[in-house]
Order: sequence, then structure tokens, then C-alpha cells
Amino acid sequence: MSSTGDTPAREGRTKVVVVGGGFGGVRVAKALAHADVDVTLLDRTNHHLFQPLLYQVATGILSPGLIAPALRRVVKTQSNTRTLLAEVFDIDVQAKVVHALAPNEQRLDLPYDYLVVAGGATHAYFGHDEWSHYAPGMKSIEDARMLRSQILGAYELAEVATDEKERDAYLTFVVVGAGPTGVEITGQLAELARYVLPKEYRTIDTRSAKIILLDAAPSVLPPFAPKLQKYTQRRLEKMGVEVRLNTAATDMDYDSITVKGPDGVDTITARTKIWAAGVQASPLAAMLAKVTGTETDRAGRLAVDPDCSLPGAEGVYAIGDMVTTVDRLPGVAQVAMQQGTYVGKLIAKRAKGDHTTPAPFHYFDKGSMATIGARQAVADVRGFKITGYLAYLLWCYVHVMFLIGWGNRLGTLYNWVRSLRYARNRGHRLISMTGAKAVAKHHEAA
Ligand SMILES: Cc1cc2nc3c(=O)[nH]c(=O)nc-3n(C[C@H](O)[C@H](O)[C@H](O)COP(=O)(O)OP(=O)(O)OC[C@H]3O[C@@H](n4cnc5c(N)ncnc54)[C@H](O)[C@@H]3O)c2cc1C
Repeated sequence: MSSTGDTPAREGRTKVVVVGGGFGGVRVAKALAHADVDVTLLDRTNHHLFQPLLYQVATGILSPGLIAPALRRVVKTQSNTRTLLAEVFDIDVQAKVVHALAPNEQRLDLPYDYLVVAGGATHAYFGHDEWSHYAPGMKSIEDARMLRSQILGAYELAEVATDEKERDAYLTFVVVGAGPTGVEITGQLAELARYVLPKEYRTIDTRSAKIILLDAAPSVLPPFAPKLQKYTQRRLEKMGVEVRLNTAATDMDYDSITVKGPDGVDTITARTKIWAAGVQASPLAAMLAKVTGTETDRAGRLAVDPDCSLPGAEGVYAIGDMVTTVDRLPGVAQVAMQQGTYVGKLIAKRAKGDHTTPAPFHYFDKGSMATIGARQAVADVRGFKITGYLAYLLWCYVHVMFLIGWGNRLGTLYNWVRSLRYARNRGHRLISMTGAKAVAKHHEAA
């Protein structure tokens, strides 16, 4: 079955299709709220995901709903915007039609005057895609839930293990990649093991869990200033984390990970490996590159023009993690959001008949920050290097303010105060036999 996916009453009006309801896509839609256009916001999930807090879902601090409001809710008050749950599989830039599939395989053919593609990025395993079975990463709510099952399942299985070696394997956690995501999840793994779980288990001492963070780079948090890198490494080590730098993963299976570092090759027996090392642009970038002849970089990102338009495709823009610009901006939420607002405003102008050449997109860097665990963080804000509790409070403020919806903000704050400040509890630790079995199955398959 095929459908134009068009609303008959709206025929003749300027149509804007936005692919992706992430940081970039939502900002495009918001910037078009009062424009005389019809917006279709399309995503293969029904929610806007605040990826920077995924690790808190994976470690039981937050429930998924707090960081993933429904897209329909996000644009509820915008009468010119509708959302569709569908996956884009083709874009015809000549005929100006986006082809997508609804969950029941119904084909949707969506004509556009302007198209903005903001499909984000996926994990990159540097040519070892099979590693994704052994070392999952975090990109979606499902990934975070799965990791939560794996992490907490490992403790459950360690509690009943009769063989010491097996118990140690369950109590060893390796995080690959010491960028902000890797550091943040490592910090939480350490908090769980040292401060949250110890009094809850009767057989194992969770404080003996081995938590290893490794990176091929010579320092943690590679994009941060050396002072902040050193501080972060020191704090992690103080929490009992083994930080291995200049160390790359060379192989892995269900039971272990092999690494090569300054001391040679080492095989670490560990049931839980977490991938936080590389990103690859959404396959939508390769699709657009093919039909427009646009170049892509090593991470598969599309090279867009300074106004985020795609050379060789009239009315098509691409933004966020799936693109690269001449100034090689980092793959962070702020870039995607600012590009989204810029392109949304540009399309609003075009829809009014203003076709003048726009000023190029200019990124305003508001700074970067990462939590380390135990209420510590680092922040680099407009040249100021802040560490410790103050940086942590700043991190909390910024992240809570960027969540969508007051309910989610207040709910997140409540959980933080409860979990991180007072009770040292993690209120969202639900797993089941099914989840824990995934960890055990890994063992059987090995
Ligand atoms: C674990 C993690 C932690 C992070 N922490 C930080 C941080 O602390 N600070 C920071 O600034 N940045 C952080 N980032 C990066 C930040 O989340 C990204 O830079 C940002 O999400 C990019 O926005 P985007 O709109 O390009 O893509 P996304 O926000 O990823 O949105 C892409 C959307 O496109 C949809 N989509 C993809 N393909 C299709 C298709 N074929 N059909 C329909 N829909 C599709 C997806 O479902 C998704 O909703 C983090 C990322 C991760 C994964």
C-alpha cells in the first residue's frame, strides 16, 4: 500500500519535511512554528531522545521517559506541524519526494519543497562490526535498557556463581573509549560498585569489582584541556577505576577483550564490555551522498555548504552529527541545535519569498563538560576551567535546563537529589530474568 502522506486540506502550501526528531530536527520544527509552511517531522522512534543522559538510564538513576518525551507532545502546540512514526528508506532529490515505511510496512511518499535531514550518527567499530555483539554502545533507549540489564545482571550472576574465576569475570567491567560518554558511564559503574550496591549483596563484595577504562589516546577526555584531563583521571583512579591509556582493543569475544598497550598484549576476562569509542554518520548520509554526488569524510559525514545546504540538491539541507562543515565542528548537541535553528529560520525566510544569500552558519561554542562520578565534574566554559562540585552543579543545571518539558526537568532533579545527593540509591534498576539471561547467554555462547 502506498500513500502520499499528504493532508488534502493543506495542498498548495509550502511543504517542509524534517527527517529525524533529535536535537537538530526538533530545533528546525520549532523555528518554523510561526512560518507559513506545513511541517512533517518524521522519526523511526516516537520520541525525542536526550542522549547525554542515556548513561543514567543504563545505570538506574533515571527512568527512560524522563529523557525521551513523545515527539507528538513536543510539537503539540504547533498547529502547522505533524509527526509521523516511519523510517526513511529513500530520498528522490529530483522529484523532491521522501520515501518512508510506517511500522506496518505501509509506504509513505512525502513530497517536499524543503527537506532537512538530521539523522544523527550510529556506533563505529572501526571495521569490526562483530564487536557490537560483545561490547554494546548507547545510542537509543533500547541500548540503555539492554546495558542496564547487562550491568545489573552481571552482579546477580556473580552473587550465585560458584566458581571464583566466573565470579571475577562477572565483576569485571571494561569501557572502551575515554571521551565524555566513556568517562561518565565509567564513573557511574564505579559509584554503583563502591557506594550503592555494597550493602545489598550477601555473597559478593561489590567493592571488589574491577572497572577498567581504556583508550588508544594518551589521555582521557581527548578534546578537553590538559588540566581537566589530569583531574578527571585522578578522580577516576581515586574511585578505584583502572585507567589504561595508549591502549587499543584488538579483539574480543563474549568472555574477554584483548588489548594492546604500552606493556604489550593483554587479554582481560570480562563479561561486560561497553563501547564508547567511535561514531559513524547515519546511513542517510551515504544515501544522500550517492544521489547528489556530495563528498563524505572518514566517519561518513556529508560535506555541506556553509548554509547547511546540500550541493546538487535544491531545497535540501542536512545538519547535526551526520554532516561535516569546513570548520570541522564537533559532533555535539549544541552544534545540531544551532544548525537546526539556523536552517529553520532560513526556510521561513525562503517561504516568505526572500531568496537572498544567507550569512553562513556560525557556531557559538558555549563550552563542554563531563561528569566523573561521586558528584565531581569538569567544565570548560568560555576559557574558564572548572573542576569538582562546582562543575558538577553547573553540569546539573545545564543538562536539566536542556531537557524538554518542566515535568521531565522536575522529575530528573528529584531523582538526582534522591539518588546522588542523599540516598546513594538508584531508583530505576528494574531488570528481569530475560534481561539477566542475556548476560548468561553470552557466557553459554562462548
Ligand atoms: C551516549 C551519548 C552521550 C552524549 N553526550 C553528549 C553530551 O554530554 N553533550 C553533547 O553536546 N552531546 C552529547 N552527545 C552527542 C549528541 O547527542 C549528538 O551530537 C546529537 O544528538 C546530534 O543531534 P542530531 O539531531 O544530529 O541527531 P540525533 O539527536 O541522534 O537525532 C537523529 C534522529 O534521527 C532519527 N533517524 C535516524 N535515521 C532515520 C531514518 N532512516 N528514518 C527516520 N528517522 C531516522 C533517529 O531516530 C533520531 O531520533 C552524546 C551522544 C551519545 C550517544
